[in-house]
Amino acid sequence: MTEFTDPPVSEAAVRVIAAFASRESATVKDILALTQALPAALTGLQSAPEKPGMSKFSVQTATETAIPAVPVAESVTDDSVTCLCCGRSFTMLKRHLRAEHGLSEGDYRIKFNLDDDHPLVAPNYSLRKADYAKKAGLGRYARDEAVQENLGTQL
Ligand SMILES: [Zn+2]
Repeated sequence: MTEFTDPPVSEAAVRVIAAFASRESATVKDILALTQALPAALTGLQSAPEKPGMSKFSVQTATETAIPAVPVAESVTDDSVTCLCCGRSFTMLKRHLRAEHGLSEGDYRIKFNLDDDHPLVAPNYSLRKADYAKKAGLGRYARDEAVQENLGTQL
């Protein structure tokens, strides 16, 4: 009669929320509301005779960090970074986070417990940018400096 012990509630909740969050129409507010309501709903389904100490645990850890719209490991490709709040992809997230979610990069990292080196700009894009900067600015700057140095030594 009690074969229900195995699947952890939080994992089921995460799956449902992730599916919901991947819909275009899902707003952050909806996702957050769902995130809060779902574990309770799922425990409700499962709540057979109380097992003290077991079930509440996973629910609490699940709500501490926000649940990303896509798995963090899948949120960065060479050409795009995916916003973990809403699941949309960009070449750079900074402006989007500010405009759509009112988050700074730091807020965002904290919210999803991201490493400091988790890229918020698509790797290819930042490579291109660095390349461009080198060609457009840095190269010329170095040349100018060299010219000035030469002038300096001549005087
Ligand atoms: Zn977003």
